[in-house]
Amino acid sequence: MKALVWQGVNRVGIETVPDPEILQPTDAIIKVTSTAICGSDLHLLDGYVPSMVHGDILGHEFMGEVVEVGSEVKNIKVGDRVVVPFPISCGHCWYCQQGLTSLCDNSNPNFKLAETMWGYSPAGIYGYSHITGGYAGGQAQYARTVFADSNLFKVPDHLTDDQVLFLTDILPTGYMAAENCNITPGDTVAVFGAGPVGQFTIRSAFLLGAEQVIAIDRFPERLDMARQAGAITLNYEKEDVFEKLKMLTGGRGPDSVVDAVGMEAHGTGLMGVADAVKQTTRVLETERPHALRAAIMACRKGGTVSVAGVYGGLGDKIPLGSLMNKALTMHTGQTHVHRYLDRLLKHIENGDIDPSVIITHRMPLDEAPQAYKLFKHKHENCIKCVLDPWA
Ligand code: NAD
Ligand code: ZN
Repeated sequence: MKALVWQGVNRVGIETVPDPEILQPTDAIIKVTSTAICGSDLHLLDGYVPSMVHGDILGHEFMGEVVEVGSEVKNIKVGDRVVVPFPISCGHCWYCQQGLTSLCDNSNPNFKLAETMWGYSPAGIYGYSHITGGYAGGQAQYARTVFADSNLFKVPDHLTDDQVLFLTDILPTGYMAAENCNITPGDTVAVFGAGPVGQFTIRSAFLLGAEQVIAIDRFPERLDMARQAGAITLNYEKEDVFEKLKMLTGGRGPDSVVDAVGMEAHGTGLMGVADAVKQTTRVLETERPHALRAAIMACRKGGTVSVAGVYGGLGDKIPLGSLMNKALTMHTGQTHVHRYLDRLLKHIENGDIDPSVIITHRMPLDEAPQAYKLFKHKHENCIKCVLDPWA
């Protein structure tokens, strides 16, 4: 089959690789009908996530048709149309039972590597390095999925791929980022980053009752899209964001601030990483503003900072004094996708949210290397690119 593989820092390509096979009786093979490129894939492209190997298949946002199931799979049948949550949940460990599925204790076969490098083990994630399990991703014609009964989520035929694909990751991620703001009536939520995650955070914040949402980015087309959802927008290259945020909130600052940027932030400063991490993680050194730093500084006293943006290694120059002395609450984490699926599917079916609005580019899988370039550099007003493995 054809697949998009990692070939080194800033290099991805299409290669012909063996078709995936059932390895465990709880597995299922999916014929991928749609797959997308995520901001998190850019961290792999940029080389910020350790333990990538030439030939690793990327992609954790994918859906399709089940074409084969293992002997112990009970709830999923050949022919089912499913979306695949990016974190892998075994369904029965302590974390999965609490609904904290991105912290699953059983889905990362490389937990020893993770514990050696990071001191803890995250859940398995498709297409996201060996430290999160070494699972092949879904930017391919077929994908092997594991713990099929507790992971694959059936979607109704009357919804298109475009409407349900983002249930795999960024729609629940935006929703969890907003939920983590503990929004109460009258609240103002500021969202740093108006990429796909930021767009869904804005829409979710309104769904959860925010009165005012303020989006901050530098790309006009992303700010336009945020305005279409009802947000007030600020271009951080053209205006004083801190002053404007104060002006819009009676001098106090937003009640909650979301970092929907993460470590490829324009101006991010990640430095001082420990030696173990340094060997495999590239280090960025810059003094320019950092989205997380800005989120902490901008939030009102007693407010909430919600970090959806992905970080790795150690970050420096985080204003811990402000975090503590302003009595801020911080929430973060990879998204517990599974716990939001029923709720978000209902919102899609009711028309409360149309996830397809963020798609700006559709390309055959063959053109995925070009799609990565467009999405990384935000060329051609690219906001979200969906790939068709069979075009
Ligand atoms: P993206 O690259 O399309 O969007 C990031 C946006 O941030 C861009 O529009 C960029 O212009 C803007 N930006 C950069 N620096 C900024 C700054 N200093 N201030 C304000 N805006 C700034 O990516 P995306 O797909 O929207 O993903 C965003 C982040 O969310 C990434 O870090 C990604 O890894 C993370 N993510 C997290 C989860 C999770 O489970 N927590 C899931 C998916 C994605
Ligand atoms: Zn993602």
